[in-house]
Amino acid sequence: MKMKFSLEHIIKCQEKLKNFRFGSDYPLLAFLDYWIPIVQFIPSEDLEWSMDQDLKLLYNPQMVIYGNKDKLAFCLAHELLHLIFLHVFIKEARYSEILETCADVLINTFIKNTSNLQIFSSLVAKDNKFNLCGQTIDVKEKSLYSLYHEVVTAYKKSKDNEIKIDMKSLENYLKILLSYPDVKEKTQTIG
Ligand SMILES: [Zn+2]
Repeated sequence: MKMKFSLEHIIKCQEKLKNFRFGSDYPLLAFLDYWIPIVQFIPSEDLEWSMDQDLKLLYNPQMVIYGNKDKLAFCLAHELLHLIFLHVFIKEARYSEILETCADVLINTFIKNTSNLQIFSSLVAKDNKFNLCGQTIDVKEKSLYSLYHEVVTAYKKSKDNEIKIDMKSLENYLKILLSYPDVKEKTQTIG
C-alpha cells in the first residue's frame, strides 16, 4: 500500500489515537473509552473515516495530527458508534446511500442529545426532526431499520408523485443518488 505519510507521522497518529480518552474532556462519552483499545487504527489513503466489522477503524492522518480536539473526538465517537450500534454488520441494502445517511443521522443525533460535543456534520436532526426525501422524519427512539424503511417509503412516494425534492439539507452523495435513482445496489459497509 502506497502511503502518503511518513512513518514518523503515522506513529504519532497511532499514539495519539490509542491514548485518546473521551472521559477527560467529554465525560458523557466516557463509555467510548472502553472501545479504543479494542479497535485497530489504520491510516486511510483516501482520508475518509470508516469502521468495519473486523474492528478496523480507518482514520484521516492529516486530521489526527492537525485537527482540533473537538473534531477528532467527533470523528472517533461517530465511527465507534457505528460499531456499538452494530451498523458495521449490515452488509448491503437496496438503497445503500439512504441507509448510510440514516445511520449517520441517528449517530450524530445521539451524540448531540447525549453529550456537549460539537457536531461536525449537517446530517443531524434538530429537535429529533430531519428532512429527507421531501418529508420531515421524526428520528426519536427509532432503530436504523425502521428509520430506513420510513425514508425509503418517502423516497419512493416522492418519485411516484414527481414531487420536487428539497435537497438543501443533504450532503453531496445523497444528491448524486437521487439524480441517478438506478445506481443503488452496492455491497459496502457503512462509512
Ligand atoms: Zn458514518
